[in-house]
Amino acid sequence: MNRIIKDMRAPVCEIFYSIQGEGIYAGSPCIFVRFSGCNLRCEWCDTKYAWDTEKAHLMDVKDVYAEVKKFGCKRLVFTGGEPTLYDEFMFQFMKNHHFLHFLETNGTIFPEKSISFFHHVAVSPKMEHIKEDVIKKIIEKNHNIEFKFVVKNEKEIDKFMELAENLSLINFPLVFQPLFEDKDNYIKRTKKITEHILKMWANFDVRVLIQQQKIIWGEKRGV
Ligand code: SF4
Repeated sequence: MNRIIKDMRAPVCEIFYSIQGEGIYAGSPCIFVRFSGCNLRCEWCDTKYAWDTEKAHLMDVKDVYAEVKKFGCKRLVFTGGEPTLYDEFMFQFMKNHHFLHFLETNGTIFPEKSISFFHHVAVSPKMEHIKEDVIKKIIEKNHNIEFKFVVKNEKEIDKFMELAENLSLINFPLVFQPLFEDKDNYIKRTKKITEHILKMWANFDVRVLIQQQKIIWGEKRGV
């Protein structure tokens, strides 16, 4: 193992094995490596516990591999927080270990070294923090992408669809994920969002997908 790998450590919030609860791979068994730290502060973020890098475990590539190999699963998701803060770490990991690597990102930082190694990338742009140049570069370097938009209402869907049309994201699967605030309102919100998609956007590659993990386990960490 070379010196860069040996010395490089990244703050890891948690590593766990579960099903992917979101997006087009929902239902697939995956190992999750959740990094700590995020460059954004979304009000409705459901992983605020991953913001604080002070509380994280500093791990090197070897430590992470030792943990993930125990699960015997071939799909590995780098999530956060914002994993693209750790581009070099992910690059070194993927160069040395052979999983089907997935990335979940907010699309505001271009992971120059690692981007082309991912089997699949889920980009979840936040309306107040769209980085068009970063999104364009991601699309250029990796073609296995889905765009996932967390939405509260019909107006937000229309805004994201406008963005998708302007940036040619309509060539990729577009996932609308209703914002989960509490279980009771979730079904109501999902129904409204679904009806709007059926009425307005049915001829695009769109899907309304819920967060399965929250329905199965509630708002728990590590699932
Ligand atoms: S980008 Fe994602 S992890 Fe970061 S604050 Fe927003 S929702 Fe949370």
